Amino acid sequence: MKALVKKSPGPGLSFTHVPVPEIGPDDVLIKIRKTGICGTDVHIWTWDDWAAKTVPTPLVVGHEFAGEIVALGQDVEDLEIGQRCSGEGHIIGHHSRQARAGKFHLDPETRGIGVNVPGAFAEYLRLPAFNVVPLPDTVDDEIGAILDPLGNAVHTALSFDLIGEDVLITGAGPIGIMAAAVARHVGARHVVITDVNQARLDLATQVADVVPVNVAHQDLREVEGALRMKQGFDVGLEMSGNPAAFDQMVDTLVMGGRIAMLGIPSGPTQVDWTKIVFKAITIKGVYGREIFETWYKMLAMLENGLDVRGVITHRFPVADFSQAFEAMLSGTSGKVVLDWT
Ligand code: NAD
Ligand code: ZN
Repeated sequence: MKALVKKSPGPGLSFTHVPVPEIGPDDVLIKIRKTGICGTDVHIWTWDDWAAKTVPTPLVVGHEFAGEIVALGQDVEDLEIGQRCSGEGHIIGHHSRQARAGKFHLDPETRGIGVNVPGAFAEYLRLPAFNVVPLPDTVDDEIGAILDPLGNAVHTALSFDLIGEDVLITGAGPIGIMAAAVARHVGARHVVITDVNQARLDLATQVADVVPVNVAHQDLREVEGALRMKQGFDVGLEMSGNPAAFDQMVDTLVMGGRIAMLGIPSGPTQVDWTKIVFKAITIKGVYGREIFETWYKMLAMLENGLDVRGVITHRFPVADFSQAFEAMLSGTSGKVVLDWT
């Protein structure tokens, strides 16, 4: 089969032939239809320090996908050949206390498809049946291919009660923009999104009813005043990984404000802990998405009017993968989707 493979350490990917994966008794084989390119894939493409120490080679990369089940392992029940699906890309162990307690997303033994084990940028993907998430007819393949990052957005946004609250999202990348749409969908009062990249703020306003603030030129305090938030934002969703954005969030939150942190800083950063303590701020680190609670919630929201399609800005046939990665590297794209059909 054809696949996008990191053949050896170094930048780029090869579009090449590899064997179709063999499935075990508890696995399914999925014929891939659409895949999404993640920031993680860009790290693997450029081969930064994180990729060099994390990703074994050769490896089929990619973890955001939608496809169709074409083979079932002998012990698989409840799934059918022909079923359209996406799936959780974290393959969990069954040994840790967290996994045995059903907190699958907190399992320290987790391995990621396309990062630690063969991934989804291929004609066929082997996946444990446990990880498969069937898609309802109302969720088409390209939305199915971005459920992984939508799950990050949903899990982060639902960390705290947003109904009637004023929400600050720092970072209008694809995940920040989708989180803004989720915050509106669940009933936040004002949703303000910041970035230093105007193209991304413009995209945010096309996808969700948000107030965009370019913090390179605009003062967030003035925006707060204009929206008549007396004391500041109730909830912050940090989705930039930028330390300056985090500081700004702390400064503009109410006393007792809550922060859900998804953004990953590029290294150790300084935090003014005195402010965190005196403002009585709660900070929650967010990793991935809840397996499988987030999946149920996001599919329900998509079936009930949540619309994130506008975050997809580029669509390419897989043969044009180089252009697709260029679009990602431009820094101005939303989600970029590859077509494998
Ligand atoms: P992205 O890099 O596409 O978007 C980040 C955005 O933050 C960019 O548009 C950038 O211009 C903006 N930004 C930079 N400096 C800023 C500042 N001072 N104020 C406001 N915005 C600023 O990333 P993404 O794919 O949307 O993902 C969002 C973040 O979440 C990234 O840091 C990513 O690494 C992280 N992530 C974490 C997990 C997890 O499990 N914790 C999963 C997926 C992604
Ligand atoms: Zn991803």
